[in-house]
Amino acid sequence: MYGLIGRQLTHSFSPYVHSLFGNAQYRIIELDDISAFLNHKSFRGINVTIPYKEAVIPFLGAIDPLAERIGSVNTIINENGLLKGYNTDYQGLKLSLEYHKISIENKKVLIVGNGGAAKTVALLARDLHADRVVKACRSVRETNEYPLQDINRFHDFEIIINTTPIGMYPHNSDTPLFSLKPFTHLTCVMDLIYNPLKTKWLLEAESLNIPAYNGLYMLVAQAKGSHDRFFHKETPLSELNKNYNKLRAKMTNLVFVGLPMSGKSLYARRLEPLFRKHYIDTDREIEKNAGISIVDIFRTQGEKAFRKLEFDLIKNVYRSHNQIISTGGGMIMNSELMDLLKQNGLIIYLDKDPAEILKHQIRNRPLMQNADDLYRLAEIRGPLYQKHADITFKLTGDITVHIQEVERKINEYFSHKRTQH
Ligand code: NAP
Repeated sequence: MYGLIGRQLTHSFSPYVHSLFGNAQYRIIELDDISAFLNHKSFRGINVTIPYKEAVIPFLGAIDPLAERIGSVNTIINENGLLKGYNTDYQGLKLSLEYHKISIENKKVLIVGNGGAAKTVALLARDLHADRVVKACRSVRETNEYPLQDINRFHDFEIIINTTPIGMYPHNSDTPLFSLKPFTHLTCVMDLIYNPLKTKWLLEAESLNIPAYNGLYMLVAQAKGSHDRFFHKETPLSELNKNYNKLRAKMTNLVFVGLPMSGKSLYARRLEPLFRKHYIDTDREIEKNAGISIVDIFRTQGEKAFRKLEFDLIKNVYRSHNQIISTGGGMIMNSELMDLLKQNGLIIYLDKDPAEILKHQIRNRPLMQNADDLYRLAEIRGPLYQKHADITFKLTGDITVHIQEVERKINEYFSHKRTQH
């Protein structure tokens, strides 16, 4: 038997990740107490997560020198009753830095938090010859640790790595511990969190044009390390990269934005079976929940009430994964809402010329009665669609050609080796 021990594991991606490497026997094992489980030794190999990475050490018969150096074990192998402990987070993080082409050498590195993961990050940063490594944390325990209130002493640092769980699912809306604006020398930031794919903190980095990376590659790379220990093998890097891309594609929501009648629902519905994602049309969901049509919501309750229903709906769906979402044309006006959708979403702009849209009859569109309305909306919203989009499609001509093109570009996005996140 193989699996993951820890607490609050219901939303763990580990069984899926290990299945990608070919291990279908990998289980989630929630434990309030580890002693009976570890003494019984009825497993071949396990991973260990919060809060047991240090607590398992006294149960081991042998510990790998690297795990001993870090003081934290995330992998245990049972070899004929002898429990051997390893740390594959270190190598996972190293591979992640290499994959994202992040160079630590001679850089000033600020680590946020001082728990188990922070120890691994600090050791690796020193091994990779960082110029300085300090931790900013709420409870200072060792040298080179500073209280978060003193963060302004490090505004000239070049790399920041967050190891706290701030902004992690289900607390996606938590306010980051500090803003990145005063850090004027940053070459990149990394958040070890991978759910959501982009925390609020990473989204701030993106908005400041700072290269920003999440912990997803590290997750898959440490799983490869454990898998290789479990089965005494060496999985090639190409398979790690392929599995990372698969997981990233599965976790990402495809979010269609664009003017009314630009074809968002049509494209989302046609792509749903190709990407095997759960389809949501936000306007139809709002109508279903309200029990009346959108035209009637606008007529009886006004636009403000509609926008509130829209926001409430997005608050219910933005934290989920593997969805294909057709949005209402006006959502783009609300940057707070767009930031929620971006946490797990790839924003796809269907850029259809208003003249093309007007070839069809306008019906049931509360804010668009005629051509003038459409041109007015295009002028106001066009730059916003552009600003928020990860991928833009200029739509002209035959839809079947476009579906193939849209599918191709999205697949290209997910297989691209060096994209951020
Ligand atoms: P941990 O040992 O519990 O450490 C958490 C750290 O965050 C501690 O320093 C803690 O400070 C700090 N912290 C928590 N809440 C805070 C708050 N509200 N304000 C300020 N500081 C706060 O956990 P860990 O094992 O290091 O893991 C930390 C994060 O890294 C988790 O999100 C985990 O999912 C992620 N991680 C990712 C990977 C990957 O493969 N991507 C691998 C390992 C870990 P106190 O000590 O004061 O509580």
